[in-house]
Amino acid sequence: MTAARRLLALAVLCALLAGCAPQTKQVERTVFAMDTVLTLTVCGTDRSACQTAADRAVTELSAIDKALSATGEDSFVWALNHANGAWVQPPETWVDALLADALTLCAETGGALDLTAYPAVQAWGFTSGEYRVPDRTELEQLASRIDYRAVERSERQGVRLPEGMELDFGAVAKGYAGDALAAWLRETPGVTSALLNLGQSSIQTIGERPGGGPWRIAIQDPSGEGTLGVLTASDCAVGTSGGYQRYFESDGQTYWHILDPETAAPARSGLASVTVVSPSGLTSDGLSTALFVMGREDAVAWWRERQDFDVLLVEEDGSISLTPGLAESFTPSDPGREVNVLS
Ligand code: AMP
Ligand code: MG
Repeated sequence: MTAARRLLALAVLCALLAGCAPQTKQVERTVFAMDTVLTLTVCGTDRSACQTAADRAVTELSAIDKALSATGEDSFVWALNHANGAWVQPPETWVDALLADALTLCAETGGALDLTAYPAVQAWGFTSGEYRVPDRTELEQLASRIDYRAVERSERQGVRLPEGMELDFGAVAKGYAGDALAAWLRETPGVTSALLNLGQSSIQTIGERPGGGPWRIAIQDPSGEGTLGVLTASDCAVGTSGGYQRYFESDGQTYWHILDPETAAPARSGLASVTVVSPSGLTSDGLSTALFVMGREDAVAWWRERQDFDVLLVEEDGSISLTPGLAESFTPSDPGREVNVLS
């Protein structure tokens, strides 16, 4: 073959390859679960594989929601919360494994995350929407009943709560769901990437966005409707907790849904929002709640000790601090805004 023919053959091959380049297919599903609207975007080379995966994801999300819902009367959590101190068997092993992992996070955060804050969450009206401000005596009583260490787990008998105590997975369920879906989505032939938007506070990214490059995630400005900035991320979970996400106002005061287990009242730590980036959804969701309760100083100390996640802290005065791992990936909407990189 002459050089000219070889070049021609190469050109034809390139043209063929370009023509055959598998186009990324994108399938979206929107589902109402876990008290919020969830959007799942599944991308890949095979549309039908993406559709099947997206449908399976919706089914699994509903199953997770059904087991973990604190308000659904046929859920495991409802049964546990209404068992009057009796043992309750988790319906499946993943529920017990999640409980074990979440309780570990409660212990590691020194109780800043405490699943048993639920009676207080109800007393403030965050489950019913009938908001009220409990008085001091009631808060003291509620706080005395918050203690994740009182949750008992037994391989044979299941799970047990002392009478008068209740728990909920609200602080970790979305993150856990992201992990559960990501585990098999990553292994699904024909699926190359996905973005699981599990409500306003939990995002799981799988692979990179179609066309290449990390996914771009908008971080809400806790002081208003706008965007604080954009975070790029791939193959990790991004969880945000903030007082702006669920709150009510009474007598000129704002009360939000993230409670300090020590006082049973909304955590006023000086932080307006906390975003945690981690390979684990459970960690990013649970930690964002816990670090919000801790406040900037303890949150930074906790990060320095662990170093296995990244965090972006927004204080009530608007100042932004982030860990070095996010220095390149976070771009503030206002280019003039000062961003303090922690060390
Ligand atoms: P998140 O939006 O992930 O920060 O979780 C907040 C939800 O978790 C609330 O709506 C409550 O159901 C529950 N919760 C509130 N405060 C705490 C806390 N300190 N520890 C564990 N769960 C909490
Ligand atoms: Mg959380």
